[in-house]
Parts: sequence; structure tokens; C-alpha cells
Amino acid sequence: MQTMQDFPLRVSQIIDHAALYHPERKIISRTVEGPITETTWKHIHKQAKKLSQALISLDVKKGDTIGVMAWNTARHMEVWFGIPGSGAINHTLNPRLFAEQLIYIINHAEDKILMVDLDLVPVIEKIIDSCPKIQTVIILTDRKNIPETSLKNTLCYEDLLREQSGDFEWVSGDEREPCGICYTSGTTGNPKGVTYTHRSNVLHALTVTNPDMLNLSSNDRVMPVVPLFHANGWSVGYSAPLSGSSLVLPGREMTPEALYEMLEKGVTITLAVPTVWLLLLNYLDSNNLELSTLKRVVIGGSACPRAVIEKFQNKYGVQVLHAWGMTEMSPLGTICSFKPEVMSLPSSERVDIQETTGHSPFSVQLQITDDDGKVLAWDGKASGKLWARGAAVVNNYHKEDKLAVDKDGWFDTGDVATIDKNGYMRITDRSKDVIKSGGEWISSIELENAAIAHDKVAEAAALGVAHPKWDERPVIVVVSKEGSKPDPKDIIKKISERVAKWQVPDDVIFMDNIPHTATGKISKMELRNILKDLGYHHPDIKK
Ligand code: ADP
Repeated sequence: MQTMQDFPLRVSQIIDHAALYHPERKIISRTVEGPITETTWKHIHKQAKKLSQALISLDVKKGDTIGVMAWNTARHMEVWFGIPGSGAINHTLNPRLFAEQLIYIINHAEDKILMVDLDLVPVIEKIIDSCPKIQTVIILTDRKNIPETSLKNTLCYEDLLREQSGDFEWVSGDEREPCGICYTSGTTGNPKGVTYTHRSNVLHALTVTNPDMLNLSSNDRVMPVVPLFHANGWSVGYSAPLSGSSLVLPGREMTPEALYEMLEKGVTITLAVPTVWLLLLNYLDSNNLELSTLKRVVIGGSACPRAVIEKFQNKYGVQVLHAWGMTEMSPLGTICSFKPEVMSLPSSERVDIQETTGHSPFSVQLQITDDDGKVLAWDGKASGKLWARGAAVVNNYHKEDKLAVDKDGWFDTGDVATIDKNGYMRITDRSKDVIKSGGEWISSIELENAAIAHDKVAEAAALGVAHPKWDERPVIVVVSKEGSKPDPKDIIKKISERVAKWQVPDDVIFMDNIPHTATGKISKMELRNILKDLGYHHPDIKK
């Protein structure tokens, strides 16, 4: 049949578009070396081509995986397109993970090369001996700033690129080929890899730039505070160049002072987890500062407190876009913008709606079901398991034969929600057993296994409890072995040997027994209710 052209949806087309139609748009970054620098989409495009060329000269083949551990900078954007442009897969690495987890995911993804910011070289030095597949480590800096290192096969990024002409055609292929992989903390001990395709990333970026979603245009200057290594960088690495937006990249400096300095470089829209905004709002308040260009702030990853919504909107005139998503959904699933039905409400009722996480872009389908799998009504009251389906939703986790979806293609999000008649979704609970603190996952099972390793602990249950700054912090409920009285400090010490410092529980609560479900698993829901009845709250919360 005579039809339209078959234009493969490859992410390389996105950077081609930015370089062609928005060549001089500014990309402002706080470099890891220190100074704030400026570049353009045109330059990033050229550098990305050089990187693709360099990777091929290093024997990178289509489908190879390259680990990247880097902050949000212009160089990271070059890498973001240089890797898929060479046909390889960009594997984002979170430097905050515990060494054992990093080793697991680097080996599981079979990373062949690592690309690392200069300040993160020590993180790699500690794990490299356990990652036998890594052939080369490229340090993301110039010759002058290359750090001393015990790593053996290292290359200097800027030297490597200088050797290339940049005269290079992107590696072509089917739009369904993989282009990125991001691991998410599993509910069991091991993280799970979500592999994005060129197609899923392009479609996701196209749908989330819509006016009812991020509403990005070439008049915007976007600052992703959320790291590119978190959940596909909330798509900004694709949606900003696709829209021809300018970027401000905050690098590794995450203090409110440093973020404020970057926000004042003409940023119109910014994205991060609630903890970041709580700290920034406090800083603005105590220093009597204004936000002179910011129009919209995207807040997601955890529930956004009402006070944050009101403060941004009423005091600073910045619209809050509460968002929900998951690594498995590329990641944006819903954004709370105002449909006409909401626009016509009085302002306090609009804030009620903003406490929901909003509605979905094209291609994201949601449903809620009860425990028997019966589909529930969208009445804003019925609460049930939340399922998702769509063009940028996971089908299988990396190297897992078992599908991550049911027979009808629905993916169980592990969240519990209501949906109202206008499609606004509200997260009411979580069925997956994980803790999320300051936007980072903590595995309950890992904390429990570490606690049980203490010889006086019979059983342990880790829980997230509400915290004013971090949204949730872990605490651990412990049943002692008969006749023994473990010292809580010893239990904490034992756990500290097994997990990263920020993952260590803030409190140990002793109980005579822990409630179980019919199948013998610890019932976190019941345990949460018991703690509530006891009036338990995090030690940082003053009564
Ligand atoms: P991200 O980095 O985008 O948060 P993750 O895959 O790490 O992605 O986490 C996804 C999970 O985070 C969701 O399944 C949900 O439990 C939680 N989450 C994300 N956004 C929100 C939100 N706005 N409100 C409540 N929980 C949220």
C-alpha cells in the first residue's frame, strides 16, 4: 500500500533537531571542576558525534552497554546522545548506591566501559576489581583536571574527543533497539533493569512535552535538579532538546544556595523531589529572596506536601505541577495540570486537586482494581491496586524471562490509588515493600536481613515513617531472641556494615511479636496500624 515514510523514532533524531532548529540555545552548567560554563545544542551535537566515533574506535558494538556515573552537566548531555548514537546502551549509575548494589548492576548490565565524573573516580576505584567486564574507564574531564587514580585503563574524555573529527553518521537501526537502561530498587534485594528503546524514549518525550503535561517550548529554560541517573532523568534529557528548550544544569552542588544561583539564570521550569523544594523554600524565606523568572515547578518522586504547593503558588507565584511516575514508565505517568473542569473551581479546591498526582498523557493507560482483580470505578473514592499500560511502560525487566505485565499487558505499579471522574489519580498507599527517603529507595528486605544477622535478633521488619524533611525515614521493628536483650546501638552497627549510611534506620523499636499475613509474611500494613495506635512518630518530630 502507498503510505507515509517510515521515519525511525531514534533518539539521535532529537539532538539532530535541536542542533538544526535551535542551534544557539544556551546550555548553562555548573561544571564538576567548579566554574559555570555555557554551551549550545549545536556544540553538544558535535561533541556527541565525536563521542560516538570515539566509542566505535574503542570497539564498542551495537547493543554494548556503557555505564555512566555523572552529575547533570553539559558533558553528561553529550554522553546522553553520544552513547546511543554509537548504537550502544546508556546505563545510568547512581553514585549514592551501596558498593554491593553498584557491583551487582554493573555486572548484571554487563557494562563494557564506564564514563565517570572526576569526583566519582574514588567510587569506581572501590568496586572495579569486582567488575571484570569493564575494559576502560573514561574520566569526564580535561587533561588538566584528571585526578590521581589507582584505576588502570583510564582515558581522558576531552583528549579522546579531540582526536575525533565529528564527521560521523549516527549508527542507524530499528526504533525498537535498546538505547538506555536504568535500574530500580526491586522489592526483593536485587535491583531490576528497565531497558528503554529509542522508540519508547522518543514517544515518551513527545507526549510529556504536551501543554497539559510539562508544556515545554523553545521559550523555556529547564533546570532538571533530578539527576539524569534517576528514572531516565524524568525524560528531560530528551524532552528539552526535542522542544528546543534551553537548559540550566546544576552539576553536583545541591545546596539551596547553589540551586538558587542556578535558578536565577533565567530558569522557567524546574524538576525535583519534594525534599529539594522544602530546603529551597526555607532558604528563600530566611534570606528574603525572590524567584525572578521561574514559572513552573515539577514535584514528584514522593507525595508533595500541601504546604509546598501553597508556598510556591501564593508567595512566589510559581505554578506547582505535582507528578507521579516510575522508572518502569520512562518515567512520567501523570502530571497535575488543570483541565477546564478544575480551572473553574475556587482556588482552595484547586489545591485539593493538586494534592492528587494529576492525569495521564497520551499513551499512558491506568486502571485500579480490588484484591480480586475487579476493575474499580473512577469516582475518586474507590481505592485499589494501580496498573499501567502504554508505549513507554516496561514489558520485561532486563534478563528476566517472566513478563512484568499480566496477560492483558497491565503492569502492577505497586502503588494503591483512587482515580476521579476527570482522570485525576491520587496515591493513597503503597503495596510494594520499599521505603523512599529524599527521593531515593531503601530496600526493606536488605535492612531486615542485616538486622537478623545480629545474633540476638529473632525477627525484624523495616518500615518507612513520615519525616518532615525526607518524606520518609526507615525505622526497624525488632523481636529479640528469647531471653536476650540486644543493645539497639549494636543492631544499628550491624546494619551499617551492610547498607549505605543514609539507608541506616533512624530508630529501633522492640516488640514482643510482629504481625503476619495468612501466607506467613510480615504484614507491614498491620504493623503500620499498630505503630499508629501506639502514637509512634519519628524521633525528629516533636510532639
Ligand atoms: P522516580 O525517580 O520518578 O520517583 P522510581 O521508579 O524511583 O521513580 O519511583 C517510583 C515510585 O515512587 C512510584 O511507584 C511511587 O511509589 C513513588 N512516587 C512517585 N511519584 C509520587 C508521587 N507524586 N506521590 C507519591 N508517590 C510517588
